[in-house]
Amino acid sequence: MNHASHIVNCPNCGGHASRHFLNKEALIRTQCPHCDYLMITCSDTGNVVEAYAPGLVAAAYR
Ligand SMILES: [Zn+2]
Repeated sequence: MNHASHIVNCPNCGGHASRHFLNKEALIRTQCPHCDYLMITCSDTGNVVEAYAPGLVAAAYR
């Protein structure tokens, strides 16, 4: 597999999240083990493919 990953600050809880670049699908996946934050964006267009953030979802939709 040819993919890179590195640690970034989680935008939801500020903890250490991991960011993976998925070459095959040209996607960037950011996932936080502390709060279940998940963000998948297209590296070509920057569009958000999938996003899940427990705190933000509760604030935005509840
Ligand atoms: Zn988090």
